[in-house]
Amino acid sequence: MTEPTIYEISVAGRRGANLPDSDVPALRLPAGLARADLPLPELSEMDVVRHFLRLSQMNYSVDKGMYPLGSCTMKYNPKVNEDMARLPGFALSHPLQDSEFSQGALALMYQLQEWLKEIGGFAGITLQPAAGAHGELTGVLIMRAYHLARGDTKRNKILIPDSAHGTNPASSSMAGLEVVEIPSDAHGNIDLEAFRRVCDETTVGLMLTNPNTLGLFEEHVLEVAKAVHDCGGLLYGDGANLNALLGVVRPGDLGFDVMHYNLHKTFSTPHGGGGPGSGPVGVAAHLVDFLPGPLVGIVEDGEGDEPPLYGFITPAKSIGRMRAFQGNFGVLVRAYTYIRMLGASGLRAVADHAVLNANYLRVRLNKAYHVPHDRICMHEFVAEGQWKDAPGVRALDVAKRLMDYGFHPPTNYFPLIVHEALMIEPTETESKDTLDAFADALLRIAEEAKTQPELLTQAPHNAPVGRLDEVKAAKELVLCCRPVEMKRA
Ligand SMILES: *Cc1c(COP(=O)(O)O)cnc(C)c1O
Repeated sequence: MTEPTIYEISVAGRRGANLPDSDVPALRLPAGLARADLPLPELSEMDVVRHFLRLSQMNYSVDKGMYPLGSCTMKYNPKVNEDMARLPGFALSHPLQDSEFSQGALALMYQLQEWLKEIGGFAGITLQPAAGAHGELTGVLIMRAYHLARGDTKRNKILIPDSAHGTNPASSSMAGLEVVEIPSDAHGNIDLEAFRRVCDETTVGLMLTNPNTLGLFEEHVLEVAKAVHDCGGLLYGDGANLNALLGVVRPGDLGFDVMHYNLHKTFSTPHGGGGPGSGPVGVAAHLVDFLPGPLVGIVEDGEGDEPPLYGFITPAKSIGRMRAFQGNFGVLVRAYTYIRMLGASGLRAVADHAVLNANYLRVRLNKAYHVPHDRICMHEFVAEGQWKDAPGVRALDVAKRLMDYGFHPPTNYFPLIVHEALMIEPTETESKDTLDAFADALLRIAEEAKTQPELLTQAPHNAPVGRLDEVKAAKELVLCCRPVEMKRA
């Protein structure tokens, strides 16, 4: 890192504020409690503003440019969402406030539950889970509770396709289930024969992502749903890719019994860097009694034009609480605003354009990049970042070189079933001009890979930092700067 820290630009004697002389008697602390010196940087207001603004500009964000990070749905986040989340009535409300005084917040949550039910085709919703992975854990616990409540105690196995996101096996293991991996077939669908061979009376269910992480719609989804149900299991939907289906098809109608929504992906909340997120879970009628509680419900109908009275309701066989208070309320306000601003036709247009944009890029790129499952894709597709005639170049190099062209790299090395994967999700919010600029950059990079491979393998050339030790950067992240970096105990 060449960028100086705020301590390194400190100049002794500089001041950022002028305070009047104190008019209260100085407090004398006992000698042992007072520090001899407090090494704070000394800077003018302008020094501080420029330092932090410069640092912030080194960061890449969706407000700065296209962010085609597959599976993450880094769509533009409308600023009206932020305005609504900051309305004092929402931002300053306290989760322990009596529900009588939180009717506005509860009405919003109730309406959001209703909309998510309608969008997903489900009978009940919990807004508690804090992210997609947390929704998965919630959903899997609901499935387990359902079997146990029927006296069906032998079920301890969950089936998960090899294309699944790593959170699927992780949350299933956390719920105490044994994970069995199901292969994909040559078309990128789940291998139904392999599935049928292992689905039996010990199966809790199948976790299916549709469209899957290859960006492909599961062509036999109705057959898959029937096959799971035939062996007594339930079908869990990883709804992270719901962006492709909004207003077109409802997972509940396809036979999914449970699904989590990623509000921070599909319904536009700033995410990345760890949150906050929100992963509501929708369930079909036979699972409503098992939802975590409390849910927001109508406790008293309003008379005439009066609004109803909202309150909290805990389902009869609830698996219990999954999170303190009512979930990430600020994210719920943003999702509510987003849905309300777009309306039904707007949500449908989101899916239409997300799918159109992905297919446009796929077709512009599929001659220069090998696309292993090259059929009509949904909101994203996966290409290979390696060529036979450029053996020294890998997907990572393509990703790093894209940064020199001013684009955030796509997801790479996921899904695991594609060699040197580059997973590209343009989202619906990019214009054709931006898509073309991105495709042009990738086409030039494919050329460079063959003519000047070192341009890729040495990239990035003009980023604030070069290639990092990514494991170290993630595991030993330094989030605050100190005059002398403290050693860990
Ligand atoms: C993002 C994602 C998840 C996990 O969601 P989080 O909100 O990040 O916990 C699960 N599955 C898929 C396919 C995803 O893209």
